[in-house]
Amino acid sequence: NGNNLVDAEGVKVRTVKLLASQNVGFESLPVQFVNKATKAGFVFNVLVIGETGIGKSTLINSLFNYDFKLPPGDYQHDSVTLDKHAFQLEEGSVRLHLTIIETKGYGDQLNMTDSCQGIVEYIDKQYEAYFQEESQVVRRLSDYKDTRIHVCLFLLAPTGSNVRALDLECMKLLSNKVNIIPVIARGDSLTKKELDSFKRRIMAEIHQHKISIYSFPEDDGQVADLNRKMNADVPFAVVGSSEVHEVAGHKARARVYPWGIVDIENEAHCDFTRFREALLRVNMDHLMQTTNLRHYEVYRDRRMTELGYGENEPQNFMETITRLRQTNEQKYRQKEEETRTSFVNKVREKEAELKERERELHSQFEHRKAEFSDHVLEINTQQSALQKEVEIFHRVKSELVNSQAGTIKGSKKN
Ligand code: GDP
Repeated sequence: NGNNLVDAEGVKVRTVKLLASQNVGFESLPVQFVNKATKAGFVFNVLVIGETGIGKSTLINSLFNYDFKLPPGDYQHDSVTLDKHAFQLEEGSVRLHLTIIETKGYGDQLNMTDSCQGIVEYIDKQYEAYFQEESQVVRRLSDYKDTRIHVCLFLLAPTGSNVRALDLECMKLLSNKVNIIPVIARGDSLTKKELDSFKRRIMAEIHQHKISIYSFPEDDGQVADLNRKMNADVPFAVVGSSEVHEVAGHKARARVYPWGIVDIENEAHCDFTRFREALLRVNMDHLMQTTNLRHYEVYRDRRMTELGYGENEPQNFMETITRLRQTNEQKYRQKEEETRTSFVNKVREKEAELKERERELHSQFEHRKAEFSDHVLEINTQQSALQKEVEIFHRVKSELVNSQAGTIKGSKKN
């Protein structure tokens, strides 16, 4: 039963069969991967950053057209935490292991750096786990459940003015670590004109602060044109909704206002459909590959340098990884030898300890035994002395009795 699954970190995995009539796009993954599709399914990990109430959960529900029932955030957080939820989605014959990681408490703290540090650490921790697995003597990468973040959806508040300093600082810290896709949340709160100028402003600030964000690949003939248009749409202005309404004869996720309806899938209303298309139908594989070949590579290089595989070392990755594995193998054998020696030594020490104790007990026993026989001897001596005294007593007594009897007889005669 899929409902009993847990991931490597013990997080419960919920199995979800998406509606066949409204496919969201990842069914095209095997095509994206050509023949690399595996029966085991694909792993896709999404990090959603944004302040409480900005619309993170609603956007995820809208993207996958499913109510994941992600717990709502509150404003009571002292620090930023990450809330992780694992799902196993099935669309057609394709299985997707989706993990959604949402920030809780982001933007509620006064200290900006602290807000982002935890997120950076989480991302690095996942790279480290992969790095450790990759350099293991016995590698299990084929059934390793990748936890590296494949995309970071960065939700920006629709202020219409500048990007908040916190968001810039956080994006800067995540720059070159993860595929950042900036998204304007609650796109329905700005007019078309306001949105256009806000988008330009956001991109200008991103450039000005030298923040590297993800860009859809424009070198793949089949999707180059499409991706060029998608890149021009960044940051996507999205609208999310948990409600389904009848709009122009079909059921759609929509937001109903007193003045009218926002159909989130209507391209004239917002960028949601193009955003979902770009993310799930066209570029999911590229996001996974970029994570592995670019961001993870940066992390791995850093770790290699830390481990002493510096500039003078062979540049070829396979050679380096082989050397790293050999070193690990050596360390592993050395550790094994050390453990064995220390075990044997411990056994010997314990044996000597036990022998010493045995000797001690034995000498204590001998000592007590000698004490005891001395005691017995003394008692025997005392007993024979006592016996002698008793004999003397009886003799004196009978002599006394006899002499008294003689005296009485004599006096009667008189
Ligand atoms: P989270 O705390 O970031 O996960 O936010 P939620 O997804 O729980 O959304 C908080 C509130 O914002 C809910 O009442 C949503 O209906 C509303 N909301 C979500 N997305 C949008 C949007 O695109 N536009 C508007 N106007 N409201 C939204």
